[in-house]
Amino acid sequence: MRKYNLPIFIPHRGCRHDCVFCNQRKITGVDTEITPNYVRNRIKEFLSTIDTENSSVEIAFFGGSFTGLEVGTQEAFLKVACEFSDQISGIRLSTRPDYINPEIIELMKKYNVTTVELGVQSSDDDVLRLNNRGHKFLDVVNASKFIKNAGITLGHQMMIGMYASTPEKDMKTVSDVIKLSPDCVRIYPVITLKDTKLEQLFKSGGYQPYSIELAAELSKNAVLEFKKAGIDVIRVGLHSSDELEEDGGVVAGPYHQAFGEIVESLIFRERIEEEIAGKKLSNSDFEFICKKNEVSKALGHKKMNTKYFYDKYNIRLKVKTD
Ligand code: SF4
Repeated sequence: MRKYNLPIFIPHRGCRHDCVFCNQRKITGVDTEITPNYVRNRIKEFLSTIDTENSSVEIAFFGGSFTGLEVGTQEAFLKVACEFSDQISGIRLSTRPDYINPEIIELMKKYNVTTVELGVQSSDDDVLRLNNRGHKFLDVVNASKFIKNAGITLGHQMMIGMYASTPEKDMKTVSDVIKLSPDCVRIYPVITLKDTKLEQLFKSGGYQPYSIELAAELSKNAVLEFKKAGIDVIRVGLHSSDELEEDGGVVAGPYHQAFGEIVESLIFRERIEEEIAGKKLSNSDFEFICKKNEVSKALGHKKMNTKYFYDKYNIRLKVKTD
């Protein structure tokens, strides 16, 4: 059974806020008005291209704050998704933690929404306030309980390197998120986008973005903590899009098309370092055994781990499959 996720981006619709880092149109690469008819056609078109008998398809409303839309509009979108209920495995949506309440949960249940992802971003109330998030961490705690109690799969999205955050506060967010036991998480390093308040803060010297190295190191630590807690990490780093990469779209910050791959490479680097610890290997080969699909991660993005072990330990890293 092949799994597909059909993302339908609803840029900024439903959101009455103005987070300093947000330019939804740039992030999602969508700038057109999304209507129920558009959604219907998009689903039909997608389903016509796959073998639906042997596929599991989840429809995902992303990009804005779905439950902040007018109730009638939410229902119109959800009804369209339900028209395909015999061909899809579920409906996923993302929203703000303060846009979840018992009435909204009822609506989600009525239309068989299977997963709700909350934009947590940080567990530090000062960081949330200074980024104009318009909610507190307590809203995340309450919304998470509502979602879990309703039997809906819970996802959390968090950010690394927000304005006024620190590496310590980022890792505190990781441990606070773990306490709420989401089923899955996404980790996004903050990118300074054009036409955002963060751009102004950056240009006036009030905000210093993380380097790729620091953002990747912290993301690696976060991934390891989540995995240890049995929480699925479903995304690390933004999806690249033409809009995002167009001239000047990214003003500053740790943006890299292969950010997730770099983080995976660091995870393997750590595993290899644990294996060589205490061994006298200078000027020799070291054979690391892994699964077939892990070879490129062990060698690292653009062989970054091969170079690292040679430069740091004078070891020639050889990766073999078991
Ligand atoms: S809540 Fe989400 S959509 Fe709204 S401004 Fe903030 S990041 Fe953008």
